[in-house]
Amino acid sequence: MSSYPFESLLHITPRPELVFVEGQGSWLVDHQGKRYLDFLQGWAVNSLGHCHPAIIAALEKQARTLINPSPAFYNAPMLTLAKLLTDHSGFDKVFFANSGAEANEGAIKLARKWGRIHKEGAYQIITFTQSFHGRTLATMSASGKVGWDTLFAPQVPGFPKATFNDLSSVEALINKNTVAVMLEPIQGEGGVIPATPEFMQGICDLTKAHKLLFIVDEVQSGCGRTGKLFAHQLSAVQPDIMTLGKGIGGGVPLSALLCTNECAVFESGDQGGTYNGNPLMCAVGIAVFETLLKPGFLDEVRSKGEYLQRALLQLCEEFDLVGERGNGLLRALILGRNIGPQLVEAARALTPTGLLINAPRPDLLRFMPALNISHEELDQMITLLHTLLKTHKKTNDTA
Ligand SMILES: *Cc1c(COP(=O)(O)O)cnc(C)c1O
Repeated sequence: MSSYPFESLLHITPRPELVFVEGQGSWLVDHQGKRYLDFLQGWAVNSLGHCHPAIIAALEKQARTLINPSPAFYNAPMLTLAKLLTDHSGFDKVFFANSGAEANEGAIKLARKWGRIHKEGAYQIITFTQSFHGRTLATMSASGKVGWDTLFAPQVPGFPKATFNDLSSVEALINKNTVAVMLEPIQGEGGVIPATPEFMQGICDLTKAHKLLFIVDEVQSGCGRTGKLFAHQLSAVQPDIMTLGKGIGGGVPLSALLCTNECAVFESGDQGGTYNGNPLMCAVGIAVFETLLKPGFLDEVRSKGEYLQRALLQLCEEFDLVGERGNGLLRALILGRNIGPQLVEAARALTPTGLLINAPRPDLLRFMPALNISHEELDQMITLLHTLLKTHKKTNDTA
């Protein structure tokens, strides 16, 4: 390992001393040739798995045709992808960006601008404890992650926090300065906590009654992850603004801000970005989205999600765990004890095949495989997890 210049990278997070060199579908290979079954997929980013042929083809073709004419001009992939998104959602307009945080910054700016025009300068956006919206200053301030209120203080003001799935806690925060409510239909980093359909409906009614905007951050839950194109469709509500990221790019940096005509209030100069709508990334977005729209694709995601759910519930029974939750192929196994980080390390160290999972909270494991994962690979994951839990139990029983 000493040949790798690890010390040249600014430290931001502890990383295992592995260098990943190759990916194919649900599999990753490290510098020593060891294979890993990948249930992280770049944090729910590689929606079609590693190096999907449709993504390679789109990149190669677009790279030979036009990489970047400038954000000041239209390009064909940007227009095609925007039309695909508006045709298959309840939104009318799209702005493309490069990351989830950037799309959410755009959503925050759009809501504040709308508040200036339509609500006498109202600017507060109600967000939620344990929520995650990104790592820019405004999106960190919008996030409800413990400790982030003082990290890099002072915060960007205007993000009062309500309690997820508690409608009265939202209602209590509404005042004349409130302009919007912003939430993840499934709190991903918070521990895969789905909003109940009643809560989503309640927020929809509440925002209508108070003339507020309803913003959904679907950076993690969108683009087929739940077996619906967008997770808010699980509860038949129509938000005013939606952000997409992660899965929409299938592994490349692409995100989007969508809104209805009523809140499309940006004027020239309000919003931009050097790479917004660049054809190379948008071409990949088209390849991803067209795959999601293939007949039966989302049904398969749903049925594989149910399959995974049943298997996880069986593990719960056998190993006396608390339960599981999630939608489609975004699921968590609730352990009941803070052994998540330990299991994540042990899973990676399994031989000959490692397993990549993560623990957004120490008492649970999260699963976000490629949406086109096979049943055999799901079975393989369950077998590896079974081995892991059995070994852990044995160690603990003898300890
Ligand atoms: C990952 C994530 C973000 C941030 O996306 P980046 O691309 O890392 O900026 C925002 N919101 C949610 C719900 C996310 O899961």
